Amino acid sequence: MDYKDTLNLPKTAFSMKANLARKEPDQLEKWDQIDIYQKIREVAKGRERYILHDGPPYANGDIHLGTALNKIIKDIVIKAKSMTGFDCVYVPGWDCHGLPIEHQVDQELGDKQYTMPQAEKRRLCRTYANKYLDIQREQFKRFGVFGEWADPYVTMDYDYEATTVEEFGKLLLSGDVYKGKKPVYWCASCKTALAEAEVEYADHTTPSIYVKFPMVSDISSVLPALAGEKVSVVIWTTTPWTIPANLAIAFHEDFDYVAVKINGEVLIFAEELLDYCLDAFGLRGTEYEIVATFKGAIMEGLKCRHPFIDRESVLILAPFVTLDAGTGCVHIAPGHGQEDYEIGLEYGLDVYAPVDDDGNFTPDVDFFAGGFVFDMNGVVNDKLKEVGALLGEMDMEHQYPHCWRCKNPIIFRSTEQWFISMEKNGLRQKALAAIDSVTWVPSWGRDRIYGMIENRPDWCISRQRSWGVPITVFYCKGCGAYLATKEILDHVVALVREHGADIWFERDAQDLLPAGTVCPECGGGEFTKETNILDVWFDSGVSHAAVLEKRDDLGSPCDMYLEGSDQHRGWFHSSLLESVGTRGRAPYKNVLTHGFVVDGEGKKMSKSLGNFVDPQQMVDQYGAEILRLWVAAEDYTLDIRISEEILKRLVEAYRRIRNTSRYILGNLYDFDCEKDMVPVEEMEEMDRWIMHRLQEIIRRVRGAYESYQFHSVFYALHNFCSVDLSSLYLDVLKDRLYTSKAASRERRSAQSAMYLILDAMVKLLSPILVFTAEEIWAHMPAYSGKEESVHMTQFPDVDPRCQDEALGRKWETLIAVRGEVSKAIEIARKQKVVGHSLDSCVSICAPEKLQALLTEYRDMMSAFMIVSQVDLVSTDTISDLYESMEFEGLKIGVAKARGTKCERCWNYSETVGEVAGHPTICERCAQNL
Ligand SMILES: [Zn+2]
Ligand SMILES: [Zn+2]
Ligand SMILES: [Zn+2]
Repeated sequence: MDYKDTLNLPKTAFSMKANLARKEPDQLEKWDQIDIYQKIREVAKGRERYILHDGPPYANGDIHLGTALNKIIKDIVIKAKSMTGFDCVYVPGWDCHGLPIEHQVDQELGDKQYTMPQAEKRRLCRTYANKYLDIQREQFKRFGVFGEWADPYVTMDYDYEATTVEEFGKLLLSGDVYKGKKPVYWCASCKTALAEAEVEYADHTTPSIYVKFPMVSDISSVLPALAGEKVSVVIWTTTPWTIPANLAIAFHEDFDYVAVKINGEVLIFAEELLDYCLDAFGLRGTEYEIVATFKGAIMEGLKCRHPFIDRESVLILAPFVTLDAGTGCVHIAPGHGQEDYEIGLEYGLDVYAPVDDDGNFTPDVDFFAGGFVFDMNGVVNDKLKEVGALLGEMDMEHQYPHCWRCKNPIIFRSTEQWFISMEKNGLRQKALAAIDSVTWVPSWGRDRIYGMIENRPDWCISRQRSWGVPITVFYCKGCGAYLATKEILDHVVALVREHGADIWFERDAQDLLPAGTVCPECGGGEFTKETNILDVWFDSGVSHAAVLEKRDDLGSPCDMYLEGSDQHRGWFHSSLLESVGTRGRAPYKNVLTHGFVVDGEGKKMSKSLGNFVDPQQMVDQYGAEILRLWVAAEDYTLDIRISEEILKRLVEAYRRIRNTSRYILGNLYDFDCEKDMVPVEEMEEMDRWIMHRLQEIIRRVRGAYESYQFHSVFYALHNFCSVDLSSLYLDVLKDRLYTSKAASRERRSAQSAMYLILDAMVKLLSPILVFTAEEIWAHMPAYSGKEESVHMTQFPDVDPRCQDEALGRKWETLIAVRGEVSKAIEIARKQKVVGHSLDSCVSICAPEKLQALLTEYRDMMSAFMIVSQVDLVSTDTISDLYESMEFEGLKIGVAKARGTKCERCWNYSETVGEVAGHPTICERCAQNL
């Protein structure tokens, strides 16, 4: 007789090999067929809503690992919230307007871009955005992300565009929006103003120069010692091309300055920088005399002459003057710098910026008219040298702003732009107050955005491009006044809702205005329209109005915005300002941020460095599941590392979880969870212990989901699989599962526990391992009312009936003793005393208290240790002892087991052959047949 056939060996159709890359698409198709997202919504009907509002990725190019990470974190949050008892709504969105797409279309058009009508170019941009929207949608779905993919929100939809116009109109009518001349970041090659978020800092070399500005005021009135001297103030700059726009020189009122007589003339600069300046001027070693020392304050109102332009440069005081570099006398060009502009306003200086859209000097600039500013640095220096004003010159490498799109260095230039004022209606203060009504995760996000809002200049919302939502303002041809009334704006909004924003570019001003409109200022009836479009951050910043407030299932403020930490400057920021400006509150209750993907060494990813990981390739190679596991396993609040090494470890971890699940499934093949379930109170004690452990896992994992710490979810579950289950519980269980009668209470008890463990585990894992959890779920025993998908279920609750702290403590001790026995067996195995652990007979001598505990568990001891016999001995009768370091007084001996090896259960027993007709098996086995 082959006794192997009498064992209850595991069997399951759940395959050992995952084959994720190949099998995931089939699963996706199944989900598609049943419309899983709607199914989950139906199950959740009537529950409290949870709205995570999607930050729209830009519809340009394939998605990269950072975008993948973001979408997967969102999906984990949503799935976990759904399984915690919420009705989750997820509407994915896309940001479609803006420079990058227009740039691509321009490149494809070549010279045609200059002659093509704007409306036609806009259609090409729309097609381009649509193409990538479709591509990205498929890529996101491939990750197992559920949502309203068939009906996403799209910032170029007519309805969305109309809302964008409407929101702009609200701010315009409330007086938050103004038109003004102000320095803005300007890219001369893209010919547009740039938002702060569109500026990148990179190394750039410019000349660093020291320039003399001769005094024209009679300085002897404040410093008599300088009477009759030729006096100059020395300034320093790294942008020589701004010298033609110099209107002032700033001193710090509290700093000490010196008038130094050297080579027959007097130079003025900060006292603290004396040595530094003499070095920079190449005058170190030259004899000099300090003629006067004075506070900067006395210089206010005196005047210098521009070195080569017939214009005065006034001396002013400014708090931003520092002694970190330069001369302590700061060159001020109000048209080319933010601080310069602000201090210029205080002193009533002109916002002078003689540079055109192409970055060329305007015709009124002597000597340099028509020259490209970055080419003019050297020419300006030559001119300064020619007039004897250049004191020192060297190259300096520094961090300089560059255009995010074309990577060229940009300039600061004042132009006529539209702004949202931070002060006029108190937007800044209101926004700062709103920040504290929001929960920021991690908490430093609060300080970050607070600091940004506190210090930001007014929001420049105009762009000189075609692909966007127009600034819908009309100008009177007669008097130049601009028209903005509720009636006109409503009229335009209705047109845009019907025809899209294209209509602004297709029709003349007259045809965009309500019939019979006349200028309220001069009564004229002819108008032009504004040609600028809105900053694309304004587009996405109104999504709370265009999406959250417009869709039935949604609402504002929503529960969560979740993006990379750069969005404190971007989307979180623009959404906050827009919502506070129009509604007086933030559009979100919680904001969660994640870090950025870096390689295994912590370096930023880039195609040029060769450390670029493509999520599509990862999916093809490992499956989306491993990508998801990576997202969950890393602490996303920091930089998120990825490398072959990390992925290999994750694949290992995945296998452990998969194999553990497979083993349990294999032992449930004959388990009917309605008929065979053993109540916890009646379970075998070890089963009760694992049920107790399971409750701890459930509590920990649910807590980790609650606080968005998905790496803790992963580690808790992985640890449970490998430590508690694989190498302990399931290992010990084998004998009971295989050799007991199939329907025995002992086996059903084990199966009941295993079933409950897997049921809990598969649910707790499902927000992360969406595919595998579903596959396991499908292989689990059926019962009436079993949900079609694991994603339609709820997380298990901690079951107080399964908790037994006293039992937990007892078992902690037993498990520790078991560990010591394993060590002893390992030594015996090395000494060839035993082979398999079942060959062993273990003798244990323990101190009194421990001995009592072991005696209590005497009957299960051999099965628990996976040995054939355990003898508890009270005196030192053991030879060749193993003495435990963990438990004082615990001594263990290992000897060859008594009796004969049972052919069926492999245990050694003195009862083998005792039952008639079964000469090779033990009594226990014979009875179980
Ligand atoms: Zn550019
Ligand atoms: Zn008018
Ligand atoms: Zn046996």
